[in-house]
Amino acid sequence: MSKQILVLPGDGIGPEIMAEAVKVLQLANDKYSLDIELSFDELGGAAYDKYGVPLADATLERARAADAILLGAVGGPKWDTIEPALRPERGLLKIRSQLGLFANLRPAILYPQLADASSLKPEVVAGLDILIVRELTGGIYFGQPRESKVLENGERMAYDTLPYSESEIRRIAQVGFDMARVRNKKLCSVDKANVLASSQLWRAVVEEVAKDYPDVAVSHMYVDNAAMQLVRAPKQFDVMVTDNMFGDILSDEASMLTGSIGMLPSASLDANNKGMYEPCHGSAPDIAGQGIANPLATILSVSMLLRYSFNLSQAADAIETAVSKVLDQGLRTGDIHSAGMTRVGTAAMGDAVVEALRSL
Ligand code: NAD
Repeated sequence: MSKQILVLPGDGIGPEIMAEAVKVLQLANDKYSLDIELSFDELGGAAYDKYGVPLADATLERARAADAILLGAVGGPKWDTIEPALRPERGLLKIRSQLGLFANLRPAILYPQLADASSLKPEVVAGLDILIVRELTGGIYFGQPRESKVLENGERMAYDTLPYSESEIRRIAQVGFDMARVRNKKLCSVDKANVLASSQLWRAVVEEVAKDYPDVAVSHMYVDNAAMQLVRAPKQFDVMVTDNMFGDILSDEASMLTGSIGMLPSASLDANNKGMYEPCHGSAPDIAGQGIANPLATILSVSMLLRYSFNLSQAADAIETAVSKVLDQGLRTGDIHSAGMTRVGTAAMGDAVVEALRSL
């Protein structure tokens, strides 16, 4: 039976970068006889405009039925003033939680060709290869109660809740250890156990899980220190496992080590490796419609999709090699451009990856 992929381009630069990723996926499908079928739907602001909600029930059902999902990005100023429950980002949080996509894998790899694009010195980042494993369906982004209100004295106040259960921590820790096992066998768990009760439980459960992985060296770090260490000496890390909010922030920070957030793919997996794949960046409204966005994070998300959901490592490797070849050719979108390189737009970058893949 053919493998069904649901494509959700989203908003802003989403449709632009997705068009390039789809070109690459279709060529990989033909070249390696992958037996993949694509279907398309809307998520986020585009879904709100079409269906009146950021994630329609029918779209959620199609996502459930699909073998994997490829997502662009959602959000934008056009929808910033609508009712909070209908905002584009709510659709994204809902699809993640409804599909149980609790494990977010965010690799931060520095392509040697982009050492100049990093804001850090080349010797600090050369050879960087970190995997951030972020818990995606729990913690403060989902915790109840949450409320904004006006107190009796007229002052406005708001609060959120940061809950984690033992089982939520255990399953994400296991993903982190499993990943560390097939890499350099080093896992750093990031928390704020000096202050937060949820982090104290997090640390205790990670210690328990560690007993099942005696071959993996585990360490613990407070999130404030981790933020500093990531820019001081990022190569000390192999796999980092952390909660939803800390992972959100640290993975954006890590992205800049690699030159641009436009280079970073991600995978969000459920307990059976069904996944949704998307670039780490957002919908970049500031550059949407200009044809200048970097499509490589989305193209590399296709590679992660083939690898993690379908175990198609030959095609996944080939896409990564094609991206590397295009960088060797000196082609750069604006976000990764440096002196002496050839500046290209979104479609030209996608076409170059297609040509490089075809010639492999
Ligand atoms: P952003 O990631 O969209 O943009 C941050 C900066 O990076 C901008 O200057 C942008 O131009 C640049 N950038 C991002 N992707 C790029 C690419 N592929 N090529 C070149 N430059 C790129 O973050 P933001 O500005 O904080 O958020 C914009 C919107 O995206 C908001 O509505 C936000 O809620 C949403 N958002 C969505 C997701 C998602 O869909 N997963 C993630 C983060 C933010």
